[in-house]
Amino acid sequence: MATDAVSGLVVSEVFGPTLQGEGPSAGRRAGFVRLGRCNLACTWCDTAFTWDWSRYDPSVELRRAGVAEVVAEVQAMDVPMVVITGGEPLLQQSGVAELAAALAPRRIEVETAGTIAPRPELVPLVHQWNVSPKLANSGNRRDRRYRPDALRAFEATGRAVFKFVAAQPADLDEAAAIVAECGLTDVWVMPEGTSAEVLHARMAALADAVVARGWSLTPRLHVELWGDKRGV
Ligand code: SF4
Repeated sequence: MATDAVSGLVVSEVFGPTLQGEGPSAGRRAGFVRLGRCNLACTWCDTAFTWDWSRYDPSVELRRAGVAEVVAEVQAMDVPMVVITGGEPLLQQSGVAELAAALAPRRIEVETAGTIAPRPELVPLVHQWNVSPKLANSGNRRDRRYRPDALRAFEATGRAVFKFVAAQPADLDEAAAIVAECGLTDVWVMPEGTSAEVLHARMAALADAVVARGWSLTPRLHVELWGDKRGV
């Protein structure tokens, strides 16, 4: 898939104020800018409305917006932090860089699957990269979901955390192989699931193995609070 089209951004939704639900910033007040399109197709994707045109209509789900328009929507939220997510935001690096610069001095976090390396001009504008490399449980072909050079580029920023979605402790072996091969240092595991009951059960099953590997475990706070409702 080509990266970066014409100027502006392909936007799925802008929402907030709400709370960052995952990773080291879980619980922080934030606004979200969700961008459209993705270069992967995870079977358990909870934002398939950004890319799966066999189930959703792109003319309904996406809009092209100027950066100034998105900035105005974020300004109305009065938030200290903005999470730029997707879809895959790295498909639109020029627009993301323009947006991140315009949102200063807010804290900027970018969520990505880590298959596309960040361009040098974008790196200093992002305070934290939440990189979520996809495992075999995502259903994507390995050569599409795993790009070691891109993961090493995120690690080299010194501001990346790597969050693996796991359904069971056996998934951690595959994550460990990626961590070792790419030299990843700040590793998190997040349970897969879209209900509080499933998440609690999987976190309990994963916790000891995550601690034993020297990693961290993150909840999915937004699912616990609001289920799989969109735009919160
Ligand atoms: S990379 Fe993210 S947005 Fe893309 S299909 Fe997978 S979970 Fe969904």
